[in-house]
Amino acid sequence: MSFERRNTRQIHVGKVAVGGGSPITVQSMTTTKTSDVEGTLQQIYALAAAGCDIVRCTCNETEAAEGLAQIVPRSPIPVIADIHHQYKMALAAMEAGVHGLRLNPGNIRKPEHIKAVASEAKDRNLSIRIGVNGGSLDPSLYVKYDGLKPEAMVESALHEISFFDEVGFTDYKISVKASNVPMMVEAYRQLADVTDAPLHLGVTEAGPLPGGLLKATAGIATLLLEGIGDTIRYSLTADPVEEAKAGRQLLEALGLRERKNVDLIACPSCGRAEVDVIDIANRAMQAFGERKLPLQVAVMGCVVNGPGEAREADLGIAAGNKRGHLFVKGRNVAVIPESEMVEALVEWAEFIHEHGTEAAIARADTTIAEREAAKDRDRALGEQGMDANHSHEKIVEIRKTVAGA
Ligand code: SF4
Repeated sequence: MSFERRNTRQIHVGKVAVGGGSPITVQSMTTTKTSDVEGTLQQIYALAAAGCDIVRCTCNETEAAEGLAQIVPRSPIPVIADIHHQYKMALAAMEAGVHGLRLNPGNIRKPEHIKAVASEAKDRNLSIRIGVNGGSLDPSLYVKYDGLKPEAMVESALHEISFFDEVGFTDYKISVKASNVPMMVEAYRQLADVTDAPLHLGVTEAGPLPGGLLKATAGIATLLLEGIGDTIRYSLTADPVEEAKAGRQLLEALGLRERKNVDLIACPSCGRAEVDVIDIANRAMQAFGERKLPLQVAVMGCVVNGPGEAREADLGIAAGNKRGHLFVKGRNVAVIPESEMVEALVEWAEFIHEHGTEAAIARADTTIAEREAAKDRDRALGEQGMDANHSHEKIVEIRKTVAGA
């Protein structure tokens, strides 16, 4: 299933394309002092490993610009300098070799400064993000629109664009972030109607986990499903690696990026579960870690329904009678002691990644695996009956209640 994406023009941040039908990219921002070159690079490498495509570092002082001069050549991904109030820091960051800039129109207001930065970026073939932020809008726009409104954020972005137009600079993308999700969604919708510039999506100051994750996902996913958005950032009050992971996982979940790591699915557990599903799923997540295994792996609580419910997964395990029943594309392939379930998942996932699911099924003795699974399934059904969750009893009660009402 796919959905139509909005047509935008393409720009580049270093070698990474944004817009114009290119894959939607994940961004994040370092939290170190940019003058701390080694610390910042360590964070950038961790971000890149977690799925970040473009990283932003603050450039708020001369030492930061000097740090960028050492960071950019060693960074595995393009680096954008985040500029606050001083346009001179934008010029210094460009001198340092950054691949792009982020300017906040609420902070740099003098037209001659904006135009000087855009001209320099044009000469150097760099791109700029116009990063409008609901919390730092030009005060005159608050007055004009009687508070923060989507229209005010859009006007702020268009105003900035008019200065770029004056110097013939077109390699920009835009964001209109707000911490209020409906406000942010509406601002991006309005912006998408009036520009073909690529859009950078985000809910600003989304906050700590898990609420921040939910807020950011609500805003970003809503727009992506409408075809709006070319690059995204989760602004979380957390380790930025969590931002990169969240961005990457959202894009994979929406089918907008190819899977890179394991997509672990697990049943919610119920009266039939013969194992602690949460514990096994957490341990499996840890064991897979950052391994580049683009597979869907299922952890299921029982062999009665598990292999059937997760038959689309590349690989899965279902518990039964203190054993784990491994299945590949719904076919039972092996029986494992319960204590070795996680290790077996990792071993089979690596084999499948290298040789494919057909080869995994071919190397298994499926007759024995299916016979043993059937044994444990029958045993569970014999002990628990067909209605392990007592659903039927509840249905009878509901009917009695309704009939007596
Ligand atoms: S029936 Fe089995 S697989 Fe489905 S939720 Fe319950 S324990 Fe999990």
